[in-house]
Amino acid sequence: MSRTDQFLGEAAKYSANNYKPLPVVLERGQGPWVWDVDGRKYLDCLSAYSAVNQGHCHPAIVKAAQEQAARLTLTSRAFHNDQMGPFLHQLCELAGFAKALPMNSGAEAVETAIKAVRKWGHKVKGIPANQAEIIVSAGNFHGRTTTIISFSTEEQYKDGFGPFTPGFKIIPFGDAGALEQAITPNTCAFLTEPLQGEAGVIVPPDGWLRKVREITRKHNVLWVDDEIQTGLGRTGRMFAWQWENARPDALIVGKAVAGGMYPVSAFLADQNVMGVFNPGDHGSTFGGNPFGAAIGRAALTVLVEEKLADRARELGDWFMGELKKMQSPSVVEIRGKGLLIGVEIRVEAGTARPFCEALAQRGILCKETHDQVVRFAPALTVSKADLEWALPKIAEVLAMSFKPAMAGVH
Ligand SMILES: *Cc1c(COP(=O)(O)O)cnc(C)c1O
Repeated sequence: MSRTDQFLGEAAKYSANNYKPLPVVLERGQGPWVWDVDGRKYLDCLSAYSAVNQGHCHPAIVKAAQEQAARLTLTSRAFHNDQMGPFLHQLCELAGFAKALPMNSGAEAVETAIKAVRKWGHKVKGIPANQAEIIVSAGNFHGRTTTIISFSTEEQYKDGFGPFTPGFKIIPFGDAGALEQAITPNTCAFLTEPLQGEAGVIVPPDGWLRKVREITRKHNVLWVDDEIQTGLGRTGRMFAWQWENARPDALIVGKAVAGGMYPVSAFLADQNVMGVFNPGDHGSTFGGNPFGAAIGRAALTVLVEEKLADRARELGDWFMGELKKMQSPSVVEIRGKGLLIGVEIRVEAGTARPFCEALAQRGILCKETHDQVVRFAPALTVSKADLEWALPKIAEVLAMSFKPAMAGVH
């Protein structure tokens, strides 16, 4: 039995069945590369859903983690620590917001955003108690808590998990007209991703974010931008909203904030919104802990010093151009921004899963998103040579077809 099979067997026996990972067991990572327990090397083209933008085990981030681990890791927010302030200072300056509230997972930061905009709606805008409405986009992915799945349009995310949280209105993604129509006097916020990752790398029409900005401002509605996946360089700008220079009222970050080394997320806004929180209103035992904050400081520094947003833009443009040249009959569309690229597989050619399996056999790790899309999102530290190595292998796989067997059809 290979070591891989041993680990797969153990995980199958003891873990809940809530994921369907590729049968690859990883034990080491460096930059954009990872190695499995049987010594095989792969180019990681998922980067933990863009949490590892800085690359695996970046030496500067490892150093910060090691030093802080030996000094102080957790104080809770009952006391101050000497890492949280400097971290939030750096994050606020990078993102251009006055205040940040640190949490751990992305979903917690989204929950924080929901609480903030509801309270703003009730206490500042003057919406009657418990009437605040939040508008969201169809196809959204904002996390997995019971409130967040309440406004998912993905049936599986909800099936069996009700009753759901009320107060959300769903409109088509990228549709400015629908947004304006959906707004009522009780609308406190529009919460959306600027580009949908989990939905299958869905890029909205040009100019949509600018219209969102105009419409929400006109109606005194907050625009909350979930950049947990698109932020921190992934799309070729530090934040995807910068593509349209349409600054949101609040920003949610997670994933790459701490370079994939530790779960750190944050909700950012100016004082007009953040001011709704008073002592005791909200919190988290681990949020703002000095270990995560020290790692976050190093991770943000790497993003800036290594100009990873610019790299994502330059390499992403070139890489997407090369993918488009492949002219595969199995591909419907190739789309994306920066190094967040989706290759949509034609239904007649099978689902994306066997393409991902064939890529893994050739040393490229991708994960299908939904049924038909293969996502390419390597670490932003990936080199052109790394991607040049991958291109012929990707071409070989995209030329394949995994047509589903059609019973009874001859
Ligand atoms: C991953 C993700 C989340 C949820 O983050 P978790 O850390 O998994 O809770 C929320 N929004 C977007 C856009 C994401 O990609």
